[in-house]
Amino acid sequence: MRIRRLRLSGFKSFVDASDLVIEQGLTGVVGPNGCGKSNLLEALRWTMGENSARSMRGAAMEDVIFAGTATRPPRDFAEVSILADEVGPEGEEVEVVRRIERGAGSAYRINGRDVRAKDVALLFADAATGAHSPALVSQNRISAVISAKPAERRAMLEEAAGIAGLHVRRRDAENR
Ligand code: ATP
Ligand code: MG
Repeated sequence: MRIRRLRLSGFKSFVDASDLVIEQGLTGVVGPNGCGKSNLLEALRWTMGENSARSMRGAAMEDVIFAGTATRPPRDFAEVSILADEVGPEGEEVEVVRRIERGAGSAYRINGRDVRAKDVALLFADAATGAHSPALVSQNRISAVISAKPAERRAMLEEAAGIAGLHVRRRDAENR
């Protein structure tokens, strides 16, 4: 899987619609403290299914919605779109969208079709990436890996080994 484009609207500090094209090769994001570099990584992780408000550095999930500033009113929704290609055996192009509205929770779409959170989790788990993937290393994460409990470290290793999707399917099968 290769992420080609990231679109944000109303997500954290990205109040205006932003369209970031990610070219082939190495991409660096630079800027002063507080300009939104970590928010970009969080936008990726959130769209891939992150559901812990704490790991999004908020108290509630709705805290990802632009909260307003002295000069701009808050927004009532946040939406992020990830366009990726080289997905699946045919290398298809896939667009994953997550949207959250105040008081209405969040919803996902894949290629314009409403899907469950689980479908998005499976898509990224099969591509060996995702909200908790060790491929997404956020600030303070290195020290967290070092001090992780054995069970947590095992989950990281399983994700790295690309078998996390199997656990999702097993849980699903057991609940039938
Ligand atoms: P550093 O270099 O210090 O790591 P950074 O570029 O990673 O900084 P971020 O942590 O991504 O910066 O951005 C923090 C900024 O995002 C803060 O100014 C904060 O006020 C703003 N922010 C976070 N959540 C929201 C929100 N819901 N609404 C508006 N602004 C927000
Ligand atoms: Mg940061």
